[in-house]
Amino acid sequence: MGKNENWRNWESAEAGGSPFFNADFVILISFAKVESIFAGGEKYAKIKPNQCLIIKTMEDNFEKIVSFGKRRGFVFPSSEIYGGLGGFYDFGPLGVELKNNIKKSWWKFMVQERENVVGLDSSIIMNPKIWEASGHTENFTDPLAECKCCHKRFRADHLMEKEGEEDFEKIKCPECEGEFIPPRQFNLMFKTFIGPVEEDAGKAYLRPETAQGIFVNYKNILDTQRVKIPFGIAQIGKAFRNEITPGNFIFRTREFEQMEMEYFVKPGEEDKAFDFWLNERMRWYTDALKIKKENLRIRKHDSEELAHYAKGCADIEYKFPIGWFEIEGIASRTDFDLKQHEKYSGQDLKYFDPETKESYLPYVIEPSCGVERIFLAALCDAYEEVEGGRTETTEAVKEKEALLKIDKSLAPIKIAILPLVKNKEPVVSKAKEVYKELGGNFQCQYDETGTIGRRYRRQDEIGTPFAVTVDFETLEDGAVTVRNRDTMEQERIKIEELKNYFFQKLN
Ligand SMILES: [Zn+2]
Repeated sequence: MGKNENWRNWESAEAGGSPFFNADFVILISFAKVESIFAGGEKYAKIKPNQCLIIKTMEDNFEKIVSFGKRRGFVFPSSEIYGGLGGFYDFGPLGVELKNNIKKSWWKFMVQERENVVGLDSSIIMNPKIWEASGHTENFTDPLAECKCCHKRFRADHLMEKEGEEDFEKIKCPECEGEFIPPRQFNLMFKTFIGPVEEDAGKAYLRPETAQGIFVNYKNILDTQRVKIPFGIAQIGKAFRNEITPGNFIFRTREFEQMEMEYFVKPGEEDKAFDFWLNERMRWYTDALKIKKENLRIRKHDSEELAHYAKGCADIEYKFPIGWFEIEGIASRTDFDLKQHEKYSGQDLKYFDPETKESYLPYVIEPSCGVERIFLAALCDAYEEVEGGRTETTEAVKEKEALLKIDKSLAPIKIAILPLVKNKEPVVSKAKEVYKELGGNFQCQYDETGTIGRRYRRQDEIGTPFAVTVDFETLEDGAVTVRNRDTMEQERIKIEELKNYFFQKLN
């Protein structure tokens, strides 16, 4: 994020956007009855009327993660050589590995390890009727009014109806009595056209969530997979939302990747299933990703917060350096979606229970999370800086060492292959041989630049759990030194045993 982005944020905050800045401090002076500040749509802090408040928005630690992400090739601003594009990011060589590892772990936990969950990959562009049935078209294309003070958004027509007021300018925010920015047609869904003519008949949307792709394939899966209730359908894929105020690095982007599952149960069984999935999803963060327990918490929604069709909802929140934010939502969605699709498609979507001979529309529990937020949480959770260095070498004690203590299942590079020197051909070609041998089985990185101590530290910083050093002794005894990132212990392993050694350590 450069200077331009700061300036844009400043302007958008003044115009009623998100008060997030790429700066250490933001000073907000509230002139009116401002009750709360919303940061990227999330309630962030409360201020009392006529109070002067200083908020440290991007704490140092968060800023460190952002610059680390760029410096080491995890995340780049999208289209950067053209000045970037707000709300879009690209994932570099290490970022794509971390992202893939998160998705792999989720798929294993949600699909592979469960006999009653199947996978799906539906298209991004679907029949636009789907979004009518789901309520997205109606809810996102009406005139939206945003309060200048609390940034809550309302439907302008609804407010006017409620107040019996013809002139929108006279309407004040029902939350804080603040003024409104003049209403605008605001559509969270990205619109596109199918076919050569840009006309209404060809209008389509980039999906704003992956869930609807699951609901519209529910019947196909029932008919082809011999699944029995309770069962789940899981999907990972891109989703798009035209956020007015994207922000906080990759926390709120306009293009993102979702991991969602719809779990179908018999009506009456939904509360039990909700509790089950809430526990299971928490277990994934702590046991599979090894995210620190003290940085996770569950927040259940009050009844006013719930969507009209939802029976219950809970967020799993992570303690980012800038505060607690949602990384996953678990919702009890009743039969709302299937009922809507039954109505709009005219198809019978009831489930026939072969044992009880009953037919019914199942209820649904939906755990839904975003890959990018988990990516960010994993980096924040693992990133450490050690003043004076971890090692005893004179070179290291002079500086600050960065260490990414990320779980080995998430580490972008599993093994670094390091020839002790780069100018002795037999050592180099032996190291390349080892790289060839291990590279087909594990994500490896070959590095011969700089002193061996510096190369170890470079690997520590990107979270590589193991480093293999090929030295002069290797040429005599056919063994290499394997260094452990966390303990810094070193052991000598025969080259022919390396593959098995790492299969045991990494799986
Ligand atoms: Zn307001």
